[in-house]
Amino acid sequence: MFTLSEDQIAIRDMARDFANEQIAPYAVEWDEKKHFPVEQLRAAAALGMGGIYVKEDVGGSGLTRLDAALIFEQLATGCPGTSAYLSIHNMSTWMIDRFGDDTQRRKWVPRLASMEHFASYCLTEPGAGSDAAALKTKAVRNGDHYIVDGQKQFISGAGSSDIYVVMVRTGGDGPKGISTLVIEAGAPGLSFGANERKMGWNVQPTRTVTFEGVKVPVENRLGEEGEGFRIAMAGLDGGRLNIGACSLGGAQAALEKALSYMRERKAFGKRLDEFQALQFRLADMATELECARTFLWRAASALDAKAPDATQLCAMAKRIATDRGFEVANDALQMHGGYGYLSDYGIEKIVRDLRVHQILEGTNEIMRLIVARALIAQGN
Ligand SMILES: Cc1cc2nc3c(=O)[nH]c(=O)nc-3n(C[C@H](O)[C@H](O)[C@H](O)COP(=O)(O)OP(=O)(O)OC[C@H]3O[C@@H](n4cnc5c(N)ncnc54)[C@H](O)[C@@H]3O)c2cc1C
Repeated sequence: MFTLSEDQIAIRDMARDFANEQIAPYAVEWDEKKHFPVEQLRAAAALGMGGIYVKEDVGGSGLTRLDAALIFEQLATGCPGTSAYLSIHNMSTWMIDRFGDDTQRRKWVPRLASMEHFASYCLTEPGAGSDAAALKTKAVRNGDHYIVDGQKQFISGAGSSDIYVVMVRTGGDGPKGISTLVIEAGAPGLSFGANERKMGWNVQPTRTVTFEGVKVPVENRLGEEGEGFRIAMAGLDGGRLNIGACSLGGAQAALEKALSYMRERKAFGKRLDEFQALQFRLADMATELECARTFLWRAASALDAKAPDATQLCAMAKRIATDRGFEVANDALQMHGGYGYLSDYGIEKIVRDLRVHQILEGTNEIMRLIVARALIAQGN
C-alpha cells in the first residue's frame, strides 16, 4: 500500500515527463492568453490519459483510481488547470462507460477516450450548487424523446466540448426525480454563455449552458429514470480524488520552485535555505503534502476495492489534499518574497489555480457534511 509497483512508477514517470515537456513550458502563457490546450490534451490521450479508468474494449486504459491519482498529480506539476480539465473529461467519460449500455458505450466512449471528442459534466445550476438535488433543469418525455429546458452554471469545457453529461429533472422534487442525459453539441436549442472571467483555471473555458426546447432521444439516457443523482455522485467520488491529486501536483511544483529559489536568493548575508525558520517551514510543507498524498492513495485504493466507506474517504481526501495543497502553494509564494507575486515565476498562477479546488466538485464544507452524516449514521 505504501510503495508503488514498477508499473505504477512507470505510469507516474510517463505523466511527469509529459508535463515537463508538453505542459510546464507553456502554462504561464496559456493562462495569460486564456488558451485551452486542445492539442496537448489530445497528445495526452494518445498516451492513454483520455480514458484512464475506462474499460479497454471501448478504447480506455483500464487502469485503477490510484493510477489516475498518480497521473493527475504529475500532470498538475505542469499546469493544475490543464490537469483538472482532463480529470473532468475522464470523470464524464467514465460515467458513460460505467452506466451506459453497450450501444451507448460504443457510440460515445471511443472518441472520448482518444479525445477526438471532449466531455463536460453538467450538474450545477444558478439556483442549485451545494444543494445539487434541488436542480430544476426539466426533461419532459414526449414519445421517444425528451424536451429539455433550463440552465447549467459554471460548466468546465462548455462551448468547446462535444458531449455534455447533464443531470435533469424527469420526476418529482429531490434526488429521486433526477436522470442523466447525454446531450451532443450542435443540438438545436443548446447554447452557451460567454467565457467567465475568473481568478484561475484560465486555461479552460467556464460557461453557462442553456437548454431551450432541446430534443434529446430517450436512448441518450444513462440508466433508468430517477438514477441520475446516484450516477452524478458516483462520478464525483473519483472526480474528488482527481481534483485532490491536481492540488498535490500544483503544490509539489510550488515547493520545488521554492527550494530552488531559496538556494539562490540571499538576505542578511546568507542563502534563504540557511535560515532555520524557513527550513522548518519547508519541512512542514513537505510533511503536510506527504500526509495528504498518502491518505489520497488510501482513499483511491478504497474506491478501487469498492469499500463501503469509499465515498466518505474520498470526501476526506478531497478536503485534506485541496486545503493542504493551497496552503503549501501559498507558503511557497511567500518564500519567493515580491518575486512570487510576479507572473514570470509561475507561482502565483499555481496559487490562483488551486484556490478553486476548495470550492468545486463539492465545496470543502460539503465534504465535511458528507463525513459528518456518515459518522452520525454509524453512531445511530
Ligand atoms: C471554475 C469553476 C468550474 C466549475 N466547473 C463545474 C463543472 O464543470 N460542472 C458543474 O456541474 N459544476 C461546476 N462548478 C460548480 C461548483 O461545483 C459549485 O460552484 C460548487 O458546488 C458550489 O456551489 P455554489 O457556487 O452554488 O455555492 P453555494 O452552494 O451557494 O455555497 C455558498 C457557500 O455556502 C456554503 N454552504 C452551502 N451549503 C452549506 C451547508 N449545508 N453547510 C455548510 N456550508 C454550506 C458553501 O460551502 C459555500 O461556501 C464549477 C465552479 C467553478 C468556480
